[in-house]
Amino acid sequence: MIRLYMTHEGTEALGPGIRYAVWTQGCLKRCPGCISPKSRDLDGGYEMDELLLAQEILESEASGITISGGEPFLQAEALCSMIREVRKVRDLGVCLYTGNLMEEISGEWESQLLELVDVLIDGPYMEELNDGAGLRGSSNQRVFDLTGRYASEMHMYGAQGRKTEIYLSVDGSATIVGIPPVGMQGKVWQVE
Ligand code: SF4
Repeated sequence: MIRLYMTHEGTEALGPGIRYAVWTQGCLKRCPGCISPKSRDLDGGYEMDELLLAQEILESEASGITISGGEPFLQAEALCSMIREVRKVRDLGVCLYTGNLMEEISGEWESQLLELVDVLIDGPYMEELNDGAGLRGSSNQRVFDLTGRYASEMHMYGAQGRKTEIYLSVDGSATIVGIPPVGMQGKVWQVE
C-alpha cells in the first residue's frame, strides 16, 4: 500500500509533456512556507494499493509521471513497485521532487527508487530563495538529469516563469497544480 496526499491525472505544469502527478503523504521536514503543509502528517491522506495506482496511470493519457509530496523517499518500496508495474506496459519517464539532498539518499529501496528516476529535483524548500523560476520551489534545489531521457527538455527547469493550473471544485475549494508563483503559497494551495 502507498499513502497518498493526492493525485492528478493530466498536468502540463510539472515537467515535460502531459504528466500524471502523484503527491505522497508524509514528510518529516518542516520547511518554513511549505508549499503543501497538509501533505506532511504521516497518518494523513489516504491509502491505496500501489498496483491499482499503476493501473490508473496506465489508463490515463499521461506521457510521464511526476512524483512529489510529502517526501516520496519515505515510501520508496511502494513507489518502486508502482513504477515497475507501469513500465511493464509503457516506458513512462519519472520526475521526482525530494526534500533530501541526493547525497543523503541511502538504503536499499531508496537506492532502487533513485535508479528508476529520470529527473531528480532535490533539497528542501527555502522560502527566502524562492526566485519564481520554473519547476522548482527555490534556487537551492538542484535538478539532476539522471538518464538523459529528458535531455532536450532540461532547459524548462530553472527557466524564468512558472506554469500553474487552478482547478475549482463545485464545493468552492481550489487546487493549484504546479509550483505556485511567489507569494501564492498558503493562500489557495489546498484540497478540502
Ligand atoms: S520537504 Fe516539501 S513537503 Fe516537506 S516540509 Fe519541506 S516543502 Fe513541505
